[in-house]
Amino acid sequence: MKSTTINRFKKMIKPYKKTIILVTLMALFIDLCELIKPFLLERVMDKYLPEKLYIYENISITTIAIIYIILVIVGNIVDYINRIITSNMGEKVVYNLRNDLYRYIGKSNVSFHDKTPSGKLFVRVTSDTEDVYSLFSEVITTLPKDIIIIIGLIIMMIYISIKLSALNILIIPLLLIVTIVITNMMKKIYEKSKEARTVLNTFLAESIYGIKLIKIFNRQKEKQEECETYTKNHRDSSKNLGLLYGLLPALIEIIENIGISIIVIFCVNKWLGINLDVGVIYLFITYFKKIFNPIDRIIENVETVQDSMSSIDKIYEILEHDEYLEDDKSGIDLKEVKGKIEFKHVWFAYEKENWILKDVSFTINPGESIALVGKTGSGKTTITNLINRFYKIQKGEILLDGININDINLKSLRKNIGTILQDPFIFAKSIKDNIKLYSDISDERVEEAVKLASATDFINSLNNGLDEIASERGNSYSAGQKQLIAFARIFAQNPSIFILDEATANIDTTTEELIQKSVDKISAEKTSIFLAHRLSTIVNVDKII
Ligand code: ATP
Ligand code: MG
Repeated sequence: MKSTTINRFKKMIKPYKKTIILVTLMALFIDLCELIKPFLLERVMDKYLPEKLYIYENISITTIAIIYIILVIVGNIVDYINRIITSNMGEKVVYNLRNDLYRYIGKSNVSFHDKTPSGKLFVRVTSDTEDVYSLFSEVITTLPKDIIIIIGLIIMMIYISIKLSALNILIIPLLLIVTIVITNMMKKIYEKSKEARTVLNTFLAESIYGIKLIKIFNRQKEKQEECETYTKNHRDSSKNLGLLYGLLPALIEIIENIGISIIVIFCVNKWLGINLDVGVIYLFITYFKKIFNPIDRIIENVETVQDSMSSIDKIYEILEHDEYLEDDKSGIDLKEVKGKIEFKHVWFAYEKENWILKDVSFTINPGESIALVGKTGSGKTTITNLINRFYKIQKGEILLDGININDINLKSLRKNIGTILQDPFIFAKSIKDNIKLYSDISDERVEEAVKLASATDFINSLNNGLDEIASERGNSYSAGQKQLIAFARIFAQNPSIFILDEATANIDTTTEELIQKSVDKISAEKTSIFLAHRLSTIVNVDKII
């Protein structure tokens, strides 16, 4: 295991040190109960039963029975509490990891999201954290318990009969070989099946997303065939799993019984001078049988450890990349924004030297409204990205009210800029919540904003008006309706600067004119930037770039 992985793991268990010590002590106690119980039965078999005694060495058989029952009850209660504590610990670890990952996703910059497929992030937050759960809820506590009980059992077996123990220890390598070979085979199948499942999942997500396109081109049959290929691959990948799954316990049982037969044969024939009482033979066999479970579990746990360690690595490979995090703490807090925007010899490329903006300079004075017009892919949206500081420019500077935007506090900067994205996003929440977007805007202001956005008719047509819950990504609304919600959102937030990226591209001309009037009214004193392909969509601007 790599040292970075171990360090990451150490960092993770640090807050749970006390809990881990506590559950290990509890496990020790449970082990001790397990070791003492057969010992009590041996006493009864060898001392009380042959002579039909009620009391032996001042201890009555009732006392032994009571101790036995107490051990069973207390041992099980402690075991139960132990399980609750460990599963709570596992859940807490997963809870924290998931929230840390989500915090990172929220705080990381747009470049990070450009580079990282969303599917990968979903897997990190959902299933990779599950792997870590098994590590905390099972392995961390059962591993010390299993190791201790194996050592305890071996010591007890040697104490009872060193010769019998030596004979049976010969069986353990056989057990190890069988279990390791089979679990390795199973692991390979698991990996293949996991890969096949990821491919299938990706295919499914994409086809559901693109179902309309598939229908338009009548490609259902082709897609069905593609799906069958992937599901067949998935099925084939785990074909032999059931076979191996049943084989392992059967083989272990056989090995275990070979061991028991050896014990019985040697004891009955008194070979190697082994001469034990019935109770002692029972005790030895019980201890011998008990050793199989923990050995088996440890081998299985090795796989869980490998899985969860690789998941921990994958999770921390994201969390440890501070360079993608946006700094929203430092920087100047803007008090009153006048709205002067200056681009001074700005050079920008998303990647390396692939310049999208080359030496771009312009000034927008406070209160001015300007239009950025250009053909597809010319860099209009890029300019709005840069004003929002989604990306760092390579050369030149962008100033807001004479301050370099890099020196402005990020939250303060974005709070003052209201951008309507080219493709407005609607959350699966009520329309009202979509407009308020977690800020404490009053209901009256929301209604006012709806009026300004000329969205009243649209919202009144919904069964529940403003309380209507939008479907995923607002899919049940038309493109124009989504833009109306986006307008209402911006009007309600009332920022100092407006940026509208093709914001009325999907709205009919009459409604567009009405919205335009609202924008003019609200933004009379404010800087506004309109992005458009066509000059015809822009009226009443002071300047066209
Ligand atoms: P449209 O009128 O189609 O909206 P636009 O003028 O808004 O076009 P931009 O979105 O600014 O164009 O894109 C400008 C160029 O930058 C395009 O060539 C595009 O391929 C590229 N580009 C945009 N976003 C990214 C990104 N995240 N990573 C890399 N390249 C990008
Ligand atoms: Mg664009």
